[in-house]
Amino acid sequence: MGSGASTTTEGSRLGLVEDEQPDLVQTPTPVARTPTPVVRTPTPVVVRTPTPAVLSGETFLADDGHEAVDVLSVTSDQVHSKEEDKEHEATSSIVNPLMTEMADEDDEEEVSVNFENFLHNNGTLYSCFEHHGNRVYVDDAQKLQPFPKEWYDMGRFISPNQEVSAQPRVTNVQPAAAVDEDDRTGSIFIPGKGSVMTYMFEERVNVCRFWDPHSGVWLLLPLQWEMNVDFVQSRVHRVMSVLPGLLDQKEITAALRLCNYDSEEVISAYLTMFGEVLLHANNDRSGETGYSDLNSFRALLEREHVIDDLRQQLESKQREADEHLHRNELLVRETRHLGDIVQNLHRKTAELEADRQEAREKIRFLQSHQTSGVTSATNTTTSKPAGDPDRLRRAGELARELKVSAKQLRSWLVLTLSDLKNALTQTEDVLKKMAEAQRRADSEAQTMRSLYQKEALERRTLYNKLLELQGNVRVFCRCRNITRPGTTSCLDQYDQQEVTLIHKNTRKKFFFDKVYGPISTQEEVFAGMVPLITSCADGYNVCILAYGQTGSGKTFTMMGTKDKPGVNVRSIRELLRVCSLKEKVSYVLKISMLEIYNDTLNDLLAKNPTASSTLDIRVQGKFVSVPGLTHVEVRTEDDIINVMDTGEKNRKMAATKMNIHSSRSHLLVALEVCGNDSLSGESTRGTLTLGDLAGSERISRTEAEGPRLVEAAAINKSLTALGQVFAALKSNALHVPFRNCKLTHLLQPSLSGDAKCCVFVNVSPEAKDEVETLSTLQFGSSIRHVALGKATKNLTPTKGNKTK
Ligand code: ADP
Ligand code: MG
Repeated sequence: MGSGASTTTEGSRLGLVEDEQPDLVQTPTPVARTPTPVVRTPTPVVVRTPTPAVLSGETFLADDGHEAVDVLSVTSDQVHSKEEDKEHEATSSIVNPLMTEMADEDDEEEVSVNFENFLHNNGTLYSCFEHHGNRVYVDDAQKLQPFPKEWYDMGRFISPNQEVSAQPRVTNVQPAAAVDEDDRTGSIFIPGKGSVMTYMFEERVNVCRFWDPHSGVWLLLPLQWEMNVDFVQSRVHRVMSVLPGLLDQKEITAALRLCNYDSEEVISAYLTMFGEVLLHANNDRSGETGYSDLNSFRALLEREHVIDDLRQQLESKQREADEHLHRNELLVRETRHLGDIVQNLHRKTAELEADRQEAREKIRFLQSHQTSGVTSATNTTTSKPAGDPDRLRRAGELARELKVSAKQLRSWLVLTLSDLKNALTQTEDVLKKMAEAQRRADSEAQTMRSLYQKEALERRTLYNKLLELQGNVRVFCRCRNITRPGTTSCLDQYDQQEVTLIHKNTRKKFFFDKVYGPISTQEEVFAGMVPLITSCADGYNVCILAYGQTGSGKTFTMMGTKDKPGVNVRSIRELLRVCSLKEKVSYVLKISMLEIYNDTLNDLLAKNPTASSTLDIRVQGKFVSVPGLTHVEVRTEDDIINVMDTGEKNRKMAATKMNIHSSRSHLLVALEVCGNDSLSGESTRGTLTLGDLAGSERISRTEAEGPRLVEAAAINKSLTALGQVFAALKSNALHVPFRNCKLTHLLQPSLSGDAKCCVFVNVSPEAKDEVETLSTLQFGSSIRHVALGKATKNLTPTKGNKTK
């Protein structure tokens, strides 16, 4: 906007305030300005630069054809673009020669030029004036043009001094056609200048300027002058009327400047700052309180600033004081604390001093006491005072040591308890593991035991198989002792398997499976039989025979005496024991006893043993049976003895009845062992046949006649038949003559392929029995190594299976 000549910057405004100093109220520097009045109309106004040109009458060209004067030649330096304003300001002192000339003219004569502003309806403001009755205006080209008549209806004139006529000071300047609508225009009398027109320009802050005809610019109005401007004065009065307490108009003017000439705002500001005291007129105007200062708005502001500064300083000082106070408090506190410490130190020093004093006295006392003790050196025992420092020290040291020991003991106890706890836990673990191991061991032992039993059985089975494979008839030789003293023995060199017979001065060696000498005991003899006998429990047929001449000890070996039981009793006893060991197999043992005399069978366990002639032999497979033969079950050893006794008794009764000697008949004791395996369901049946044969002496020697001869013949026949059977078995003959006699017939199962046979050849060492001994030894030797064939186990068919 056209404010090219404006100096209303912030700095200039401050300068304005400064300008109000009285000494500054002088003629302002005539700087060429180009004020830009802004018309307060709703529509934007194009501001025309009014060019208050100073014109000379000679160059003016009137509408009636007079030569126009080029205004630019005069005012080109003042009227131009905004950009050049500043430059113009700087060179404001340069006075146009023409202007100077005109000024000179003004000084000499009254200037009749009245400046006017014409506001055209198109929004343009033109500067106009009248010269010699002709009105002209400055056109866009800054040239004076005759004011068109038709413009009077196309706008209005704005007179700068329409109301100043009342002012007595305004004398020289006469306002042109005044326009009442705008109260911002005015005139003022300036000493040395006369009456000037003023106008309140609306810039950023309203500024009151005056038109300087000499410089041709709008100059800033000093405060002292401004307060005389009607526009301002009316507002000053307004303020003063409301606030009678305010007296300094200059200050009020300054306040109005600051408040953009808003009297209400100034009133509010004063009331706010000074209170209602201003509402009343102050009579004490010349008081020493400097009330005038109170009216000074600037002073007030300055005082405000000062007060603020002071307040800030006060606060700062207050803070500093507070800090100092706080520091002081701390220092006081510290001092007090230090004082306490010093007091304590004093007290302790005093105590120490007292202690030292006391100690000194004690030492002195002790020294004197010691001296007196030494000097007296009598028999009195010197007892140390209770407060002996050494003792006390020692006691103290002892107490400390005890304390340390107690601590160590406590820690040791804790550690030991912890160790014990750990050890206990470990022991419990070990015990658990041991119990577990024990349980495992028991289980393993049980397993091992059963395995052992199984192994034993298998071993026995293997042994039996070995015997089966051997398949031989084993022959043992037992020599009885010499009963008649003084007689020489025909037997010599008893060895384990060898015996030498001295016969007719020749020595004959005989070898047997085992040779038992005259001093051999029943136990030793039986011990060799045990494996053979126990196989009976496994279902094998076993036969043990005693062969020899009468009186050689056959009956002693087989039956024995009550105190020296023989093989029979012992075998049955052993079988009972073996069967009782087998828990899984239930056994039944039955005994039968029969006598073969003259090839007839005699049931020795029958109730009527004499009527036994009807007994016959039947063969069923591997087994032979004697129907009607009495079988007695035995469970205990007593049963065995009872049965044996019964049989023996019956045998004697029969012999007595038939007037014969028991040695003239064969005695067969048969023990039937039947087992039933509850696990496998198998049933076994073995038979142990114990034969005490009749004497094998030759008939010629007995010199028997009649029945004795028949008797001898029968014995010979049976023994010969037995020899023949063995010979046939040894020669592996197709036919074995078992049925040649009742003895071999009954012994068939025990001499067949699946049986085990053991023959005792009992011999007498007496020389008179030399021939018979030789004969027995020869018999024994002949039947040795007889193969009975492969022994087989007698299994009773379980369900539908037939025994082989
Ligand atoms: P056999 O039965 O052969 O006719 P015995 O057995 O009756 O012979 O024996 C005849 C006698 O000899 C009996 O009195 C018996 O006690 C005794 N005797 C037999 N052999 C022995 C022996 N080895 N030790 C001790 N006495 C025996
Ligand atoms: Mg006998």
